[in-house]
Amino acid sequence: MLPNWITPPYNHNRDFTGLGTRDREFHIYPFHLVFQEETTAWFSFIMDGEALAPQGENSSIACAISSRSAGTMSFKVPAATLHRHRWYTSLGVDPGQVFTCTQVHSREVLALEPESPHEGPFADGMIIQDPRSYLVVTVADCLPVYLYDTESRGFGLVHSGWKGTGIVIKALQLMEARWHTRPEAVAAVLGPCIGSCCYQVEEARVQGFEQEFGGPDGAYPLGPVVKGSALDLQAANARLLVNAGVRHIALCQDCTFMDERLGSFRREGPSYTAMAALVGVLHPHERKIRF
Ligand SMILES: [Zn+2]
Repeated sequence: MLPNWITPPYNHNRDFTGLGTRDREFHIYPFHLVFQEETTAWFSFIMDGEALAPQGENSSIACAISSRSAGTMSFKVPAATLHRHRWYTSLGVDPGQVFTCTQVHSREVLALEPESPHEGPFADGMIIQDPRSYLVVTVADCLPVYLYDTESRGFGLVHSGWKGTGIVIKALQLMEARWHTRPEAVAAVLGPCIGSCCYQVEEARVQGFEQEFGGPDGAYPLGPVVKGSALDLQAANARLLVNAGVRHIALCQDCTFMDERLGSFRREGPSYTAMAALVGVLHPHERKIRF
């Protein structure tokens, strides 16, 4: 199923002079999450206005995220193993084909092979080139960034909170090194995260973020990266991606803090719902949703 994505309000030849982009033209495709069976939203990579997972096709690369009602997917919570397996099965995904890493808010990315360990070492991102494998990270306000190289068909997924911002470039570099990925052939999706509407942080963190990723000025792809005392994780990542030559970015517009279908560390506190973000080749006709 496709998300209700909307004609882009921003895109095309925005002026971001001085950012050193290889190609000035880029496209942002905003969308909202549509949940199915209340447990799963899935969405496509989009390139030149076309979803790369056309509805009706039997199998295609796709991105997914679990809802709060699917339960926490945290790898630190024993009961979550059941939630994850139930969710994978509902997507038609064999739990034995799923790769994860032990997330530590780093900028480390693992280049995986089908024979790599399925629960990997400390890292916050993974790439793989295998149509039978799936990558999963958990998020609850942090930003999941999904990447797909339309030429090599390799894909990646990173967990990018304020501390790990920049990890998306590590993933791209690894894709270039391993698969000769060209950034202009990459489709990216910036998934749901806490929006700049709700992400106020302390002054020191604002300053650090501003120094590294850009401040309140400038016509960056998504506008300012810092807004008063709030950070915009998606704007920072969009800027990094566009700067690196990526031209096609789908943008989830749902804020985890405000949308109660979503897990949010800030809203829910210590018993927060970690959502699973997943990427891989999904087979819609094999899905068995039953919660
Ligand atoms: Zn918000």
